[in-house]
Amino acid sequence: MLAAMSNAPPVKILAAELETSASAVGGFPAEGPPEVALLGRSNVGKSSLLNRLVQRRSLARTSKTPGRTRLLNFFLVRWPEGELRIVDLPGYGWARVGKGERREWQALVESYLAKRASLRLALLLHDVRRDPGDDERDLVAWLAQRGVPVRGVLTKLDRLSARERAARLARFREHGLGLDWIPTSARTGAGLDLLWREIERAVRESTN
Ligand code: GDP
Repeated sequence: MLAAMSNAPPVKILAAELETSASAVGGFPAEGPPEVALLGRSNVGKSSLLNRLVQRRSLARTSKTPGRTRLLNFFLVRWPEGELRIVDLPGYGWARVGKGERREWQALVESYLAKRASLRLALLLHDVRRDPGDDERDLVAWLAQRGVPVRGVLTKLDRLSARERAARLARFREHGLGLDWIPTSARTGAGLDLLWREIERAVRESTN
């Protein structure tokens, strides 16, 4: 399924900051505000989307500096609903069979995803021009098994003509791993309001 575009006003972000980066479970901040996890292969447009979501030009740069690619980055966002954490999980879910450091990294992220009580929603970012592959399929199955709610976010929508867009969106409706996909562009801001609505809904459902 694909969400329809809307023209709702943007969410008002009162503050956003990198709260902490963690390389081990012990470094995670105490459970508290509801959390939304961002998943996506590198270059999918995750930093750009995060910056656009929280209306800060370069907040997510920090997560791209060398050394931070193996850290979970917790961003604390204040919005009219209260506080929210957006948790960036760089590179998780791809090339799952690795050795040493990579396996450790996977284990750390998996323990976050499987055990974090504050986690409300995982967003799987995916380039609208690519078809989902085995990595995406495995990840979605893994999350489903553990009962983690997941939504798909299609990135870089602006790279397509209107005609191509219609064709790609139809394809995701048919072959989109059964996910709800929200088409977005960090460049134009398309779909960001819908994405916020999804986040609001996930947070509200969990507090009701
Ligand atoms: P990350 O590695 O997933 O954090 O990806 P980045 O946010 O750094 O983006 C990777 C590349 O894609 C950069 O060159 C961005 O300028 C570009 N990019 C990201 N989002 C968009 C978008 O919505 N539209 C277009 N046209 N390019 C984008």
